[in-house]
Amino acid sequence: MEESLKEKLFNKKESGWNNISQNDKEEIYSFSDGYIKFLNNSKTEREAVQTAKQIAEANGFKDISTFSSLKPGDKVYFINREKSMYLAIIGTEKLENGIQIVGAHVDSPRLDLKPNPLYEDSEFVYFKTHYYGGIKKYQWTTIPLSIHGVVVKSNGEKITVNIGEDENDPIFVITDLLPHLAQDQMEKKLKNAIDGEDLNVLLGNIPYNDEKASEKVKLNILNILNQKYNITEVDFLSSELEIVPAFKARSLGFDASMVASYGQDDRVCAYTSLSAMMTLNNVKTTAVCILSDKEEIGSMGNTGMESHMFDYFISELLNKTNENKPNLLDKVFCYSKMLSADVDAGFDPIYGSVSDKTNAAFLGHGIGLNKYTGARGKSGASDANAEYVAWVRNILEKNNIKYQISELGKVDVGGGGTIAYILANKGVDVIDCGVPVLSMHAPYEVTSKYDIYSAYKTYKAFWEA
Ligand code: MN
Ligand code: MN
Repeated sequence: MEESLKEKLFNKKESGWNNISQNDKEEIYSFSDGYIKFLNNSKTEREAVQTAKQIAEANGFKDISTFSSLKPGDKVYFINREKSMYLAIIGTEKLENGIQIVGAHVDSPRLDLKPNPLYEDSEFVYFKTHYYGGIKKYQWTTIPLSIHGVVVKSNGEKITVNIGEDENDPIFVITDLLPHLAQDQMEKKLKNAIDGEDLNVLLGNIPYNDEKASEKVKLNILNILNQKYNITEVDFLSSELEIVPAFKARSLGFDASMVASYGQDDRVCAYTSLSAMMTLNNVKTTAVCILSDKEEIGSMGNTGMESHMFDYFISELLNKTNENKPNLLDKVFCYSKMLSADVDAGFDPIYGSVSDKTNAAFLGHGIGLNKYTGARGKSGASDANAEYVAWVRNILEKNNIKYQISELGKVDVGGGGTIAYILANKGVDVIDCGVPVLSMHAPYEVTSKYDIYSAYKTYKAFWEA
């Protein structure tokens, strides 16, 4: 009697793996295999957009510039400067009655090269770096690193670089001090132990065979780069080269229940939303998927969500469906709904003291929603209306999708933000909705395969609602 009353009244919080059917488990594992493959091909925002474009085109999406007019069922994409992408499927309803958006980001914390990166010291040659996004600097020493990006010569020729991923490629590394001589370093605060100016990537050690030259090792490396990529030192000035971990994404644990990889914030939401969009046909409300750039450094610039590029894309949809009239864009946004698809901090028992266990997201408990983000007194928060949270809950409950609504850490401990507020500021109803992660922003992050699949099901059900 008492048990059934509890059953009726309590919000039951339990692992989604409990009593899971063999069939469901197989579906989860096979979906995760595709995700792991995506991660290994998409280590930067440019690569993620390139992979997403291939997936979209294989599923019948075409560049919006190839359409002079749009009708229900048309599948389009728009790529902004190779770094961010918007996709849409035109619905049978008019756009002015609102659209349904899922928005993730494809940039991740990393080390960028400085404009003048190359130098020699004591017969070693290095790249100087400038870190991008919130990193714990000590985590980036003594791990295998790869180099990805582009070098654009002043004549416009673009050279794509991807070295350190293939088994036959060399890798690169940032050295650290041996413990025998690290007495002073070990006394420092963790955040000061490694200096930003010391995150220099080791590139080579052989001097060029020329008696008269100085900086012979640098000369030798430049000679190798010149032969391999046909570039000279000045070409680094117009390059975007990113240093990322050379680790491969892998299944984690004896039970293979988790995924360990670089860049899961936020490519886990990017892949699951993109995959969900690929399954859609004949939607009622126009479905839009955002893969944005620069989220990790504040969404600024012409590829970040703060730019007007997204408004431009929606205006193009209005123009090409022949619906547009003055100020209609504002109306579209006011009647639109969005899931801000970004990762959440998963509860880690080793560091349990930073979380309120009653309001934390647990790995394996399904998709994680944050009604609000922000820090301390909800500073900078985008706070979803209760009415909208109820609407989203209804979709999840109708579709039997396990979900959890949580906060990122204890009230006074810290906080964070996503792109949610940017769309909310336009008038869209937005809630944060993504996958809980352990070791977020580290070179190797951890997620649960159960939650990855829940995210995919959530985004699909949202667009179909
Ligand atoms: Mn994120
Ligand atoms: Mn992040």
